[in-house]
Amino acid sequence: MITPDRIVPTTCPYCGVGCNLELHIKDDFVYKVTSPFDAVVNHGNLCVKGRFGYDFVYNKDRITTPLIRKTAQEPGARTQAFDRDQWHEASWDEALDYAAGRLVEIYRRDGADAMAVYCCAKATNEDNYLLQKLFRALFRSNNVDHCTRLCHAGSVVALQMAIGSSAMSNTAAEVIHSDVFLVTGSNTAETHPIIALQMKAAVANHGAKLIVVDPRRVEMVNWAALWLPEKPGTDVPLFSAMAHVIIKEELYNRDFIERRAEGFAEFVKSMEKFTPAYAESISGVDRNLIVEAARMYATAKNAAIYWALGIPEHSHGTDNAMSLIHLALLTGHIGRQGTGLNPLRGQNNVQGASDSGAMPWHYPGYQRVDDETAARKFEHAWNSEPGSLNRRLGLTTTEIMSAVGPGGVRALHLMGENPMMSEPNLNHTRHKMEQLEFLVAQDLFINESDAYADVFLPAASWAEKEGTFTNTDRRVQRVRKALEPRGQSRADWQIICDLAQRIEKKLSRPQTAFWAYQSPAEVLEEMGRLVPEYAGVKYSRIEKEGLQTPVWDDNHPGTPYLFAETFPSGKGKFHPLEYVPSVEMPDDEYPFILTTGRLLEHWHGGTLTRHSKLDELYPEARIEINPADAARLRIEDGQPVRVSSRRGSIVLRAWVTQRATVGVVFIPMHFVEAAANLLTLDTLDPLAKIPEYKACAVRVVPATKDQLARPEGKVQRGRY
Ligand code: SF4
Repeated sequence: MITPDRIVPTTCPYCGVGCNLELHIKDDFVYKVTSPFDAVVNHGNLCVKGRFGYDFVYNKDRITTPLIRKTAQEPGARTQAFDRDQWHEASWDEALDYAAGRLVEIYRRDGADAMAVYCCAKATNEDNYLLQKLFRALFRSNNVDHCTRLCHAGSVVALQMAIGSSAMSNTAAEVIHSDVFLVTGSNTAETHPIIALQMKAAVANHGAKLIVVDPRRVEMVNWAALWLPEKPGTDVPLFSAMAHVIIKEELYNRDFIERRAEGFAEFVKSMEKFTPAYAESISGVDRNLIVEAARMYATAKNAAIYWALGIPEHSHGTDNAMSLIHLALLTGHIGRQGTGLNPLRGQNNVQGASDSGAMPWHYPGYQRVDDETAARKFEHAWNSEPGSLNRRLGLTTTEIMSAVGPGGVRALHLMGENPMMSEPNLNHTRHKMEQLEFLVAQDLFINESDAYADVFLPAASWAEKEGTFTNTDRRVQRVRKALEPRGQSRADWQIICDLAQRIEKKLSRPQTAFWAYQSPAEVLEEMGRLVPEYAGVKYSRIEKEGLQTPVWDDNHPGTPYLFAETFPSGKGKFHPLEYVPSVEMPDDEYPFILTTGRLLEHWHGGTLTRHSKLDELYPEARIEINPADAARLRIEDGQPVRVSSRRGSIVLRAWVTQRATVGVVFIPMHFVEAAANLLTLDTLDPLAKIPEYKACAVRVVPATKDQLARPEGKVQRGRY
């Protein structure tokens, strides 16, 4: 029995559930993670990542000294730097001076459009607020984005268009107050395991009925009253057919629509063609199941909708999310406990990074950069001359990458993100990374993207710094420093402030008072003065439990569910929809639809989990393929297969499983040795600019063990 020197309460660094952790520390070493039974988010429960996935902090591959690439790289001829002799270890002064000098040189020569930054959904609110402030206030660039673009951008745009707010409307734990809840595009048991526990309790202990709509037989299907196994990319006809049934059978909430929605008459006309039979012909889902699901959802006292990336990650992701929003507006299942529109956020702080302004079209608090009043407000707050902040919308992540090259983006700053794993069509991304003139990387490890960097700034881990994360249901929670930063690594907020002060000096813009924060608490207070929803969030108020935004002032108790009386846009708006097929449909050459996603044991590009003991639990990629498809192709369980799309090819083992439906295969996104995004499409949703990760056409053929053992080096894991 070990007696800890101290137990430090903090928040999980992985998924958006935001579980409350206790780090048990002996001799400056975390030897155990637990959670208190009275933890407001997770009541003592943790998944495998939260309980065991913390040892990346001590991994031997972690970089704890600033590095500078020895030989300057020519744009177009850049390579990844993996060997020690390609870098030299530098002091912080040397590395920061070098980074600031090159960034300013490029800005002076090519202007704001040449500068871009990827902020980070793993970093704190304070880190993200400061990095977007640096690029906006000093480089006048709105080319500021992060991985929300690659996950829920379609949901955000649709929700903003329909009701004027993109946050999850209700608290996840309220699911026990739902009579019916619909889960779609979400493998909740693996991606949000603690919310899945609450959902299972709602079914088992409270009699709630679950409707799952998903192309895969995910674990939640075992708990479902109805499973609608749709083909990928057919959400609009399926959910519009549910709307059609609700309208035809007059199950809609006439009073709610009259009081709180507009555009109903036009919407009703647009839904006429979406009969259950028409939806069946496109989605493959039995028309009777569609009718039953519509009746079940509409006639419930309280019904909720939960969705994840299977909805927005399409070239028509905004329409998909809109088709779900229509169901809530039709029935009035919103604005009460146990109801609502609930996009489950992926990473630990994707909600907070978005709130903090790590987006190209918005200042913190979703205030548009092209709105004159908002721009003047931030100019005043950031001591910038009137008219100096850029009023043009910036580029999104995938647009930033496409714009790299002469006359476009020349300098990129990556904080914790890894486009060489997360962007679609990675062969294209690699070509663009090679074209950069200057790359700053700020991270714990040299990941696949950081290996292209000119300067590497070693960051402290979440266990080594103070800050806040905002979880999927808008709860702002404390992150606490439990350990001293390893080696020379520093907290991201300190790195950014040090870099900003050097840039200001080189630009001859003496505003240093605005970077001389004494603590992250001061950063959050500045953000609270600019973002009304965070006005009442103070460190002193979230010592024990977080607060759910909006928190309008110092006495406001926070907001468990939204829209009780009205929407931020006033009335909710129906938007007539058309069905637009996915860009690539299966054909003779590429007969399968590939969908990609996450596993319980890993997280995103794998930078953290693949440097933890979780990697031993699930060490290699497998493609899920239905037994009928496998038998036809003479593929056995565990056999190597080659998967090819029009953009690339990978080799990995087959997992012959009923989790996959016939004609649909699934590959997890975490494994560099078989990087799923070598296959995916970079076609974007026209409104949200989110890529089509969830549907592209592929071919699957048997491969050899030799081909599996020698991946063709399309993407390489960073190392030093
Ligand atoms: Fe961490 Fe999410 Fe697991 Fe909770 S459910 S322990 S937040 S990874």
